[in-house]
Amino acid sequence: MTMIADNLHAVTERIAQACATTGRATSSVQLLAVSKTFGPDAVQQAFDAGQRAFGENYIQEAVDKITALSALPIEWHCIGPIQSNKTRLVAEHFQWVHTVDRLKIAQRLSDQRPAHLPPLQVCIQVNVDGGPTKSGVLPAEAAALALAVRALPRLQLRGIMCIPEPAPDFVAARAVFMSAKAVFNAIVEQGVPLDTLSMGMSGDLDAAIAGGSTMVRVGSAIFGARHYPGVA
Ligand SMILES: *Cc1c(COP(=O)(O)O)cnc(C)c1O
Repeated sequence: MTMIADNLHAVTERIAQACATTGRATSSVQLLAVSKTFGPDAVQQAFDAGQRAFGENYIQEAVDKITALSALPIEWHCIGPIQSNKTRLVAEHFQWVHTVDRLKIAQRLSDQRPAHLPPLQVCIQVNVDGGPTKSGVLPAEAAALALAVRALPRLQLRGIMCIPEPAPDFVAARAVFMSAKAVFNAIVEQGVPLDTLSMGMSGDLDAAIAGGSTMVRVGSAIFGARHYPGVA
């Protein structure tokens, strides 16, 4: 096995363990492999090991990779911030976007989604821990944005996504993820069906699963440390 295949296996085991600990079915948590800064060959290795869903942050880098790997049946997820001038590329190249936090961006994505493609699958990014400089809609505003996004014809609202600050320990991390789950539940109670709670990364996926995550986004634990200069 390659290192990437080994790592994927280890992450899958971690997910299964976290599910077992909290009495959840392993099938209730999907793995999104975050391939930002890694080339098409790394994605190909993960694909060969059975991985099908990949997440990317930087739109132009992603589009180059998506084009290079267009022969593979990969599901591409946009998990990076989206400027207005990048919505067309996102609408044309991705199946999912996790980072919708303004109606204006959602409207552009819907308008620009090509007619021959199925609706774009969308999560609303929620700023659950309220960091002042962070992207994401505030929890109190999430339900209103969800209702507005749901009305757009070329988007299919699937759930919410969050990127909390690293917490000091497991219990603190789980508490923040549980507050995201509460936002999720509040939206569902407004009559908006959701099935996706996108949260948890390499460092905190166990706490995220304990808090109710249905999709963990894992990069470095699969592909190794990232080395692009100036890129997180
Ligand atoms: C980079 C990134 C990840 C993956 O982070 P790792 O710590 O490498 O697992 C997940 N989600 C988002 C939004 C990211 O930008």
